[in-house]
Amino acid sequence: MSTPNTVLAPDPANRAAAVKVVARIGADQAPVSNAIEVHDPHDDTVIGYVPDLDTDQALDALTRAHSAGRAWAATTPRNRADILRRWYDLLVDNADEIALLITLEMGKTLSDARAEVTYGADFVRWYAEEATHHTGTLRDAPTGGARLLTRHAPIGLAVLITPWNFPLAMATRKIAPALAAGCSVVVKPATLTPLTTLFAAQLAVEAGVPQDLIQTVTTSDAGSFSNAVLADPRVRKVSFTGSTGVGKVLLRLAADNVLKSSMELGGNAPFVVFDDADLERAIEGAVLAKMRNGGQSCIAANRFLVQDGIADAFVEGLTERLAALNTGSGFATDVGLGPMVDHKAVRRLQGLVDDAVSRGAKLLTDGSSYAGAGSYFGATVLDQVPVDAHVVTTEIFGPIAAVQRFATQQEAITRANDTEFGLAGYVFTENLDRAFDVADNLETGIVGINQGVPSNAAAPFGGLKESGLGREGSAEGLEEYQEIRFYNLALRGTH
Ligand code: NAD
Repeated sequence: MSTPNTVLAPDPANRAAAVKVVARIGADQAPVSNAIEVHDPHDDTVIGYVPDLDTDQALDALTRAHSAGRAWAATTPRNRADILRRWYDLLVDNADEIALLITLEMGKTLSDARAEVTYGADFVRWYAEEATHHTGTLRDAPTGGARLLTRHAPIGLAVLITPWNFPLAMATRKIAPALAAGCSVVVKPATLTPLTTLFAAQLAVEAGVPQDLIQTVTTSDAGSFSNAVLADPRVRKVSFTGSTGVGKVLLRLAADNVLKSSMELGGNAPFVVFDDADLERAIEGAVLAKMRNGGQSCIAANRFLVQDGIADAFVEGLTERLAALNTGSGFATDVGLGPMVDHKAVRRLQGLVDDAVSRGAKLLTDGSSYAGAGSYFGATVLDQVPVDAHVVTTEIFGPIAAVQRFATQQEAITRANDTEFGLAGYVFTENLDRAFDVADNLETGIVGINQGVPSNAAAPFGGLKESGLGREGSAEGLEEYQEIRFYNLALRGTH
């Protein structure tokens, strides 16, 4: 274990290998003008550059994607499936390099980055398989005299806007179903982490995706970008992953052209542990649900609601596990927690801890005092957090575990649902009846039952309430990029 407040240094060989990947994708040299600098959150050094495109350039990219989309929509599902499968194979072949790049630009540990590559590539494999399914139905009209045919047609040009926390997976989760459905895309990655998306798009072209079909638009002016592209009548779909505030802005813009909209927004996940839970399983699940990606995940456990009889043992076990995590560069050996994505995030987390403590929460481990130039915030456990503390009313997006205690199942459900968000929830109990009862009553799109990492490419991921609209992954994720049309075929007679 490292001594408190020590930030582990990167393994130099890994970091050097990551820098080589930046050169491989051609992002190591600053463009002549209008560049966005990309930083390593470990020490704020500049690690690469991408063009800072203006709205005219974004609209040019849109024109290219729109033109390429016509021919792509006319390809066969089998053809699209084969190309997606080759893209999957290339993502797997280049998994080490992609993981290095994710760690370099986003900060997460290399093991988290490798897990993201597996997860992100899985969406491409899934939609390679799904492309040839889900192509329509034939039904008998209930009154007879007709057959009803449905056809799942590509919706057209899709605008995809992604966040920085999973730079590969949030892109593939949108691009793969769009391509499988027969759509072209303009993708805008987060300004903080554009390199991984560029790399993935280059591999897609290597796999046989037509050059112009995926247009990656990097810009520091996201507002002007969305105003311009969402007003363009050639766009038929917007898919966004990010904060609820920005999602609401985009939904308002989408309303003008009545765009089909998918919104994967913020969360405030309750993690409910009952007295009858398996303690070790609950602690293991809690560490995963809280600490994956340094807590910077939309489905991260935000509020630990723990029943009185098990609370002391759970808090003790969780505190021990989190206090033992080494904090440092994602490239360091034996690191458990990398830097936060930027200094703004660290200031926000410090504010949440200060607010909770000022309202009476008990600070059990304090991650607030990490030295160094990078944006570090260590694992933190707060117990007996009052209901009005900001750490439980807002999305934490960092390595702070906020524990509250409850007495009855009804109290747990009421408190779990006391939020405008509804993305993920977790329930830990060995009682199957209770597990389903609680899962059915949690107002969330996703429930982990004795499971700290519920996401799966084969399952529909998405939120209720202000956590979003639509689903990603699974067959439902493909329909987000399809228009379902129906033909009514009249038949003589009544059959
Ligand atoms: P963010 O909303 O600040 O940014 C997300 C993306 O939107 C970025 O590409 C950003 O440049 C862009 N953006 C910002 N303002 C915009 C505007 N006016 N018009 C168009 N684009 C704009 O979110 P973030 O900080 O990058 O990501 C963290 C948030 O994302 C958290 O709230 C998290 O819960 C959420 N998230 C949700 C899911 C999910 O599946 N539900 C997954 C990952 C992250």
